[in-house]
Amino acid sequence: MTAVLINGKEIAAKKRIEIAEKVKDLKKKGVTPGLAVILVGNNDASRTYVRNKEKTCQELGMNSLLIELDEDVAEDKLLDKILELNNDPAIHGILVQLPLPNHIKESKVIETISPLKDVDGFHPINIGRMMTGQDAFLPCTPYGIMVLLEETGINIEGKHVVVVGRSNIVGKPVGQLFLNQNATVTYCHSRTKDLKLHTKQADIVVAAVGIANFITADHIKEGAVVIDVGINRNEAGKLCGDVKFDEVSEKAGYITPVPKGVGPMTITMLMYNTLKSASQSLDR
Ligand code: NAD
Repeated sequence: MTAVLINGKEIAAKKRIEIAEKVKDLKKKGVTPGLAVILVGNNDASRTYVRNKEKTCQELGMNSLLIELDEDVAEDKLLDKILELNNDPAIHGILVQLPLPNHIKESKVIETISPLKDVDGFHPINIGRMMTGQDAFLPCTPYGIMVLLEETGINIEGKHVVVVGRSNIVGKPVGQLFLNQNATVTYCHSRTKDLKLHTKQADIVVAAVGIANFITADHIKEGAVVIDVGINRNEAGKLCGDVKFDEVSEKAGYITPVPKGVGPMTITMLMYNTLKSASQSLDR
């Protein structure tokens, strides 16, 4: 392997120590950051994510509150619960674990969360603030990617970034964060013609597609930075990213692995956002 490995696990651990220190300081001022997580239904993957979030809260000295609702809960009941949490001074962050059952409108749920407690950074107000370069809760995975690059000392200004994927939670916001840092950004997606034509020109490629081993060495320019957001299973059932790691790591300059790349940063930035919200509550 010739590429430098961007070790997300190590960078996340360093950030978590910093967050835990700040939580201690805040507690001395009488505020313990509190994160409420709402889980609807019984999706195994969601349950695992939620458990990890609770565990990380505990490790960092924060409070966590898990609210479990039945798969067939009425949308109104979920919205009422969110309104109750919006008014609870002990709760600084509210997260509704996605995906939601089909009878519940995701956008309605997200818009009911107070933008001041929207630690996932999905509320249109936070997205708008992010787009206009104002202070905002930034969505956790894109934010985590920016921190990985910052911690690795990779300069972004003037770089050509190609984002593959345009979801609301990863692709679109990460491109915007790069733009905010003066990169030139190209978005590619399922309807893009000749993907390689674009990715081969990129100084930085972000793969957020959800297809195992989709990005191969011939998508990449020699020495490029490759960020792999994907979480997939290969034919053998092994966890893998969107990037064919073995061959791309021989050509790239920097690369994130899967696991231990972008993944650990997502929960870390969720904790950071909850801390930020708790700190801001002191000023209100
Ligand atoms: P998504 O399914 O919402 O979006 C996938 C995107 O890929 C779409 O915008 C689509 O246009 C694009 N795409 C599909 N086929 C393509 C093709 N042939 N060529 C180019 N683009 C194509 O997925 P998402 O929620 O953005 O997640 C993407 C991946 O990242 C998934 O594997 C997901 O599990 C993972 N993920 C990881 C984290 C983390 O913390 N590491 C967080 C969120 C998502």
